Amino acid sequence: MTDPTLHTLLCACCTPSPRLARRSLFGLAGALGATALLPRFAGAASGNYEALLLTCIDPRFPENTLNYMRDRHLAGKYSQISLAGASIAVVAEPFKTWRPAYWENLAASISLHHIPKVIVLNHRECGAAGIAYGPDSIATREKENETHKKVFAEFRAVMAERHKDLTVETGLMGLDGKVDTFTA
Ligand SMILES: [Zn+2]
Repeated sequence: MTDPTLHTLLCACCTPSPRLARRSLFGLAGALGATALLPRFAGAASGNYEALLLTCIDPRFPENTLNYMRDRHLAGKYSQISLAGASIAVVAEPFKTWRPAYWENLAASISLHHIPKVIVLNHRECGAAGIAYGPDSIATREKENETHKKVFAEFRAVMAERHKDLTVETGLMGLDGKVDTFTA
């Protein structure tokens, strides 16, 4: 059943004009913080889930990613956000305008899914790494490892600043689906 408050905010039929409806929604979201509205979404999955998974948008990896999560017995037990570069999108300067999407979605998953952990899967041959740090940063396997280790360290640092209660796992997936984990 649709939450009547949310329906009023979202649906133009209940307000004098769609413009006003949009203004009301954004006004309220701004006043309360966008995530304050999230528990009111009727039908949204809620409960206790295992993790938020952060991945890149690269089309070569979704199948391997799901297989990896299945192998870990996590299929159906996690939420997911995909941004080009995965954790690179959260820390690299060229993608800084994307960061709010990550933080807002993380806040939503914490609120709705009560996740205790964020799992990051960066991947090898990632174009976003080349854009953020230059092609040489991923020119060899060793350089690629170092680049992603640096990214993971920055990512862990910003996570610790904002969500020190969450566990952070970082992994680098190859084209064969194998994941190298780099701990802090
Ligand atoms: Zn990528």
